[in-house]
Amino acid sequence: MLNKIEKKILAGGGITFDEALALTRFKGEDILDLVSAGNRVARHFKGNSLEICSIINARSHGCSEDCSFCAQSYRYNAGVRPYPMTAPEKILEQAISMEKAGAGSFSIVTSGRGISEGDLDKVISALILLKKETGLKLCASLGIIDERKALLLKEAGLSMYHHNLESPSTFFPWVCTTHTFEERVNTVKAAQKAGLRVCSGGIVGLGETPAQRVELAFAILDLGVDSVPVNFLHPIAGTPLEHREPPLPLACLQTLAIFRLVLPQSVIRLCGGRKEGLRSLQPLAFMAGANGVMIGDYLTTKGEDLKRDFQLFADLGLVPR
Ligand code: SF4
Repeated sequence: MLNKIEKKILAGGGITFDEALALTRFKGEDILDLVSAGNRVARHFKGNSLEICSIINARSHGCSEDCSFCAQSYRYNAGVRPYPMTAPEKILEQAISMEKAGAGSFSIVTSGRGISEGDLDKVISALILLKKETGLKLCASLGIIDERKALLLKEAGLSMYHHNLESPSTFFPWVCTTHTFEERVNTVKAAQKAGLRVCSGGIVGLGETPAQRVELAFAILDLGVDSVPVNFLHPIAGTPLEHREPPLPLACLQTLAIFRLVLPQSVIRLCGGRKEGLRSLQPLAFMAGANGVMIGDYLTTKGEDLKRDFQLFADLGLVPR
């Protein structure tokens, strides 16, 4: 069955929902066959290039929302240091250092349901500065926005807007009660309408079933997004999910490979929780279909060592784009 699915995808066809569902039932060694199929599909459509991005947490904590995995909600005491919007010059400093480290794109991320007009002005100033002083592709993740705000960001030099769906629609109410899955979808559509590319994925391991992970992959496919961040739960003390175990490494690889088969044309970007979820199997993630990665620190947690990351990419024969 897997061979048939792979051939169909390589010929330009798509996997069906039921076929993808059947892949969630693979166990043990069969998962490694699935990983190989993910690798062949990724190499066919994406070659050996690797998209490398990095982020800055430009405004920390104080968010009104109650996303159960997030350390930045004011409702949880996760020990995160709050600070207001970072000055454009500081953002530039961080962007230059990550460009030197090897990142090709850089995202300005702010905590919160959305972004105020005042902070939007500051992000716009930062984008104009980064456009002038770096060669980075510019990305932003500012919560729920409408088309007008998306257009202003595009005019300032933004290439891509990031807004995760986070979790499938059928599980989203267990992840967040203060906004809806539809509001997230509407933001993706608003950014696309403004002519921005979109980066939208989710977090694996919040309590959703394997079948619901397939639902998420197909929801992303329906939206036609360009880049798909795949995060794995990194349970943070003080959040409602602090005691939930991250998904097992083989389950992470299985999910990555299924995402690659469902979304053969998109960048599948390995992001937060890669160390906690994949553990010693992390190199295999790039052989399961991932062709993008986030380097450096995450929003509230430390990232991987940069030297070790770039050694890994070189050892795997991946060429940063
Ligand atoms: S994920 Fe975003 S919207 Fe949700 S609590 Fe964290 S900062 Fe707020």
